[in-house]
Amino acid sequence: MLGLEEEALNNSPEEWLGRIHPDDLAAFRGEFDCHIEGKTSQFEHEYRIRHADGEYRWMQVRGLVVRESNGKAYRMAGSQSEITDRKLAEERLLHGALHDSLTGLLNRALILDRVGQALARSQDNEDANFALAILDIDRFMVVNESLGHGAGDELLVALSRRLKAELGPGDTLGRLGGDEFAILIEDYQDVAEVEEFVQKLLDAIGRPFELNGKEIFISASFGIVFAAPRYVGANDMLRDADLAMYRAKKEGASGFEIFEEQRHRPRFDRLQAETSLRYALSKGWIHVFYQPIVDLKNRRIIGFEALSRLIHPSQGIVPPADFIGIAEKTGLIILLGEQMLKMACAQTVEWQRQYGLGEDLTISVNFSARHLADESIVALVGDVLADTGLPAKSLKIEITETLIMSNPELAAKTLDRIKKLGITLSLDDFGTGYSSLGYLRRFPIDTLKMDRSFVGRMDTDTRDLELVRMIIQLAHTLGMEVVSEGIETKRQFDLLAELACEYGQGFFLAKPLPAEEAGMLLANQPI
Ligand code: C2E
Ligand code: MG
Ligand code: MG
Repeated sequence: MLGLEEEALNNSPEEWLGRIHPDDLAAFRGEFDCHIEGKTSQFEHEYRIRHADGEYRWMQVRGLVVRESNGKAYRMAGSQSEITDRKLAEERLLHGALHDSLTGLLNRALILDRVGQALARSQDNEDANFALAILDIDRFMVVNESLGHGAGDELLVALSRRLKAELGPGDTLGRLGGDEFAILIEDYQDVAEVEEFVQKLLDAIGRPFELNGKEIFISASFGIVFAAPRYVGANDMLRDADLAMYRAKKEGASGFEIFEEQRHRPRFDRLQAETSLRYALSKGWIHVFYQPIVDLKNRRIIGFEALSRLIHPSQGIVPPADFIGIAEKTGLIILLGEQMLKMACAQTVEWQRQYGLGEDLTISVNFSARHLADESIVALVGDVLADTGLPAKSLKIEITETLIMSNPELAAKTLDRIKKLGITLSLDDFGTGYSSLGYLRRFPIDTLKMDRSFVGRMDTDTRDLELVRMIIQLAHTLGMEVVSEGIETKRQFDLLAELACEYGQGFFLAKPLPAEEAGMLLANQPI
């Protein structure tokens, strides 16, 4: 069996054990010892052993231990047969079932299985976040038709080799079928790093390929999706990555698109928008979602921002981007604002009592241009405070710069009157509008909310980091506190805390949540 003469072996166990493949030895010993200790009725194992020609052969061994009368094992009797052919056939089958025969990459079934496993890990452990990128060659049909299918296949092989060369240890590449590939990206710091990686792949794909002595140029489009609790299975993620990829193609190909829930959901039916919105308001379909605003020093929640959501019985959750505009145009924003204010204030009073937080727990409510132009708004706010019992100090009103600038005189007057009630004012989306310093000083603003576009870029672009530092210093000089919007990574959180920014808000801390879930966060606050 081993290609050895009988005399070449003595009968010490080392003759045997010393020839076993190092990768199989531990498992072999395990089974072997189990049987000697009497834990199994028979010794049976499949393993590789070295042949005289230096190659390893697969063996199946079966044995029974023979014992002295006191139970001590002194001998093992049994048989061994070679199973190399069977093993190789099994391996080929297994490989064939899970790998793509053309490129040798993981096939659709296996890559989706890996995505499913990663998804399960990420649901147990928030740090195990990952991304799925899929790519599709642009106009692959043209290559196939003009150069022939043989060349098309060659191109796919060359492309898979090129992609493979760019992968890091945390990336897994597979072929979904046709000219579609998938990459599971598990080891990255933030969204920007994934974008950078995909850009690198795009660059690699853009270099010429040589086929049949001809140089040919191709491009591809990528769809990227990040793991999220809403995904139940790998196919869900694949569907969204597909949607994003098609969007990238529509936008001119040779690029990538990140899947965003809001962008890809069918829009709230704009045709009947006004009647729908009026109906939704009357039906109580407008709900308040609460996003925590957190003290960056200790991660404690100091308050929430109230964000509106339309929960439609058949369309599901409609984000404000799809109805605030209509509400403003039609004047329904006044009614919507009133409902939001009432619900948010009532809920906050309840939390303040339930968790013994008193007026320290704040609620921020967004106001729009119409609100400031409406004389009766001050009286309305006063009434809501009186009706709900919320201390004026606990209410923050968020307004945007553009809104102030559209009518500075009027805004100044209304804001002064609101301030007199004891309410605080936040300047929302700071940095996206005029950001006129002169104006900043003229208005009674208490808090500055730095727009998430700065925060999003601060850990990749040093100029943005400097801007962020300056905005924070400026706010402090003017006696304001700063809330950073859109904190999505731990690194952004740490940087902002270091820059002495007081508060933060963003998906890294928590998404906007329904009242019950937001309340649970309060119940589980860090001490
Ligand atoms: P905003 O006041 O600047 O609210 C913050 C927005 O940023 C929210 O979007 C929130 O979901 C989102 N956001 C929070 N953290 C992150 C993050 O880490 N990353 C990213 N990418 N986004 C984050 P939302 O809820 O879709 O609201 C959009 C805008 O709609 C709000 O912007 C606000 O201007 C307006 N809005 C929402 N509710 C109302 C309302 O009741 N009345 C009025 N007048 N406007 C509202
Ligand atoms: Mg806001
Ligand atoms: Mg904002």
